[in-house]
Amino acid sequence: MRNNTDSIAVSVREVSKIFDDGSGAFVALDNVSLDIGSNEFFTLLGPSGCGKTTLLRLIAGFEQPSQGQILLHGENLEQLPPFKRPVNTVFQNYALFPHMTIAQNIAFGLEMLGRPRQEINSTVDEMLDLVQMKSLADRRITQISGGQQQRVALARALAPKPKVLLLDEPLSALDLQLRKDMQIELKRLQLETGITFIFVTHDQEEALTMSDRIAVMQGGHILQVGPPRDIYEHPQHRFVAGFIGEINLLQATAGKTNPEGLDLQLGEMSGLKTEAKSQVTPGTKLALAIRPERILLAGPDKEQLSGKLINVVYHGTDTLYHFTLPDGQSLRARRQNTDKTGPEWKSGDIISWSAKPDSVAVLED
Ligand code: ATP
Repeated sequence: MRNNTDSIAVSVREVSKIFDDGSGAFVALDNVSLDIGSNEFFTLLGPSGCGKTTLLRLIAGFEQPSQGQILLHGENLEQLPPFKRPVNTVFQNYALFPHMTIAQNIAFGLEMLGRPRQEINSTVDEMLDLVQMKSLADRRITQISGGQQQRVALARALAPKPKVLLLDEPLSALDLQLRKDMQIELKRLQLETGITFIFVTHDQEEALTMSDRIAVMQGGHILQVGPPRDIYEHPQHRFVAGFIGEINLLQATAGKTNPEGLDLQLGEMSGLKTEAKSQVTPGTKLALAIRPERILLAGPDKEQLSGKLINVVYHGTDTLYHFTLPDGQSLRARRQNTDKTGPEWKSGDIISWSAKPDSVAVLED
């Protein structure tokens, strides 16, 4: 959590949202707290139904919290209707006006706000430049591609210069290549405008590529908040570990704590360590998470940690190796094909492996 209140754009404080349609109450958000910094590209990531859109709608003011508060730059805006908040939203379906031109679409919100004509014209020009659509200003929405519509939707939302831009799965309608191009484009727009972006997605790769920080959500809770590298390399929860990328989940027993870290025992096998956060009583059962690309394979040498190779899958840039460990657990390791030397290993080989202590995460649940 950030502690410099000046730099906090959005502060979500112990917010719950309960929907009740008469047939029973449903808790969509359960006591959620979160600080999002000014100029941050912040992503809410989680599976369908976890409460991402609900949290975004509360920040926008389309919904009110059942409990708790949401502050924007330190102010409680509960009484302020959505259109008066310094917040704007880009919706999944863009919500553009098809009968209007690109320029008219961008100008629309500014006209509603009663801005002077001269200011509207210069802002529309500035926005067309920003999204690189100047030459198409007079085209109608029906005459442009999906990717171009996406740019217009962004330009229209950025035109009133909101302090916070909310983006609800804005790339989901685009094909894969366009989506990747727009990821780079969105990041550029955020850096260029300095506006806080709060981006909602269920796509972990999208979240990892673009975000300064990510909040991983599940069942109305925020499980973990952190920079992409932290979330990926040091998941604290089984759900976070499994939701983001491929991972080995292993059962281990704590051994002694020493200066290099905490010793871990996998069945009868020792030699693995993790960076110990605090003293752990020897004998405690622990759940570990290790990324397959962090497993270092040493070949058929006699080391402490070993596994029986079950299957080898060639993936072009890398190869995936499936092992069974002596205690029966499964382990997957990925190795860049450029790193390979010597003969290819085959099923049945006993291969030594290791992992650096900072690559071994201990899960809290
Ligand atoms: P998705 O990725 O599918 O949009 P989400 O994570 O954005 O999912 P929300 O739209 O926030 O999820 O919904 C969270 C939960 O709250 C869901 O189970 C949903 O059915 C429920 N919910 C959302 N809005 C309402 C509503 N107006 N009335 C009742 N339940 C609702």
